Amino acid sequence: AAKCVDVVVVGSGGAGLAAAIQAYDDGASVLIVEKMPTIGGNTIKASAGMNAAETRFQQVKGIQDSKELFYQESLKGGQNRNNPELLRRFVENAPEAIEWLATRGIMLNDITTTGGMSIDRTHRPKDGSAVGGYLVSGLVRNVNKRHIDVMLDTSVSDIIVENGEVTGVRLTTEENETVTVTTKSVIMATGGFSANSQMVVKYRPDLDGFVTTNHKGATGGGIALLERIGAGTVDMGEIQIHPTVEQNTSYLISESIRGGGAILVSQQGNRFFNEMETRDKVSAQIIALPEKYAYIVFDEHVRAKNKAADEYIAKGLVTSASSPKALAEALGMDHHAFLATLERYNGFVEKQHDVDFGRTTALRAPINEGPFHAIRIAPGVHHTMGGVTVNPETCVLDSAHNVIPGAFAAGEVVGGIHGGNRIGGNAVADIIIFGTLAGHQAAMRSKKA
Ligand code: ADP
Repeated sequence: AAKCVDVVVVGSGGAGLAAAIQAYDDGASVLIVEKMPTIGGNTIKASAGMNAAETRFQQVKGIQDSKELFYQESLKGGQNRNNPELLRRFVENAPEAIEWLATRGIMLNDITTTGGMSIDRTHRPKDGSAVGGYLVSGLVRNVNKRHIDVMLDTSVSDIIVENGEVTGVRLTTEENETVTVTTKSVIMATGGFSANSQMVVKYRPDLDGFVTTNHKGATGGGIALLERIGAGTVDMGEIQIHPTVEQNTSYLISESIRGGGAILVSQQGNRFFNEMETRDKVSAQIIALPEKYAYIVFDEHVRAKNKAADEYIAKGLVTSASSPKALAEALGMDHHAFLATLERYNGFVEKQHDVDFGRTTALRAPINEGPFHAIRIAPGVHHTMGGVTVNPETCVLDSAHNVIPGAFAAGEVVGGIHGGNRIGGNAVADIIIFGTLAGHQAAMRSKKA
């Protein structure tokens, strides 16, 4: 069997869907190939939101922000190891990407914050629901409206290169049939490798035995396919562990809970760190506790504003009690210590000054409205910052930094943007910003045929 199409998009997470829509809107014929039986990849699990500075929605809320500050905070959060060119493009195109979604009926006009950001710039759906499900359903609606072809249960097994240029891909379909698709442009949007424990441990032996928050498909196969056609890789050992993962279910407890005002408390009933620090630092502090776990603690006020909290309650992950004392007892925690911790923290909120750990953001409201809630958490493998090398135009680069004509990549499969630690809310921004850019570039290339 054979097919011919302008642009092949591999992967149906946020990067792939955004790329496909943009390529179509630029006049290209598009095919999306997804190895899993369902659309959405790991994107569908994204919870916090999408970071962007200088957006219309920030303006409406009177939030003063700048692209430069967004750049500097992402760089600092990334331990100064981000690729500056990619990060510049990322920050520059972020407000446009928010608008790109808005014009397609995907409104991220509620704004919160995540660890490492000093300003509210994490855009999310207005009703407080998790960003991933909302985003994927909105993108799928756009894909369907355009009648873009999606092949599920189909994986790309080869990228075909002739005379140094991409000329097609080979697919293995649901029926185990091999199909060759002729194309001038392939967009690899295949995600990261957090769910491939062998690959994780190869680069980071210290992460042996860690749970992962990722979907089963996050196995890094796309990186291997690109390496086979000469692509370079970068930062492969930069693997993020997310600090707040419920260990029995591997369920990620969104940073937006802390961003909404929750705190972290040890089994001894004490706060131990600035909850709004970056993920790498918060994770390290939890691992350093004698029990290697902690509790995320919040009150009814925080719950009411965050739909994710209801989901955690429905899933049975939350211990709730009518008073702080009863909550401490339910957790087997010294209630004197816990009550003192709450009282002290609430005093910091009142003065907007955390004397103990220097938390400066999301000191939103005192934790004093019952019922009180706690979720036991510990770190889990969450994001692979490393991946294939690209230029700011999303063209895949070989190990000598030359463009491989016809090969584009966007999303978690790409390395370099996030340096040593990805900021919460920067992955959703990454996939939309670079997904749309890849779609545009690929469509332009096909037009030059
Ligand atoms: P991103 O956030 O970068 O968009 P996601 O993890 O959300 O990444 O999506 C990547 C998608 O790519 C997943 O749904 C995954 O199943 C799919 N995928 C990975 N490798 C292949 C492959 N070789 N062929 C087809 N689909 C793939």
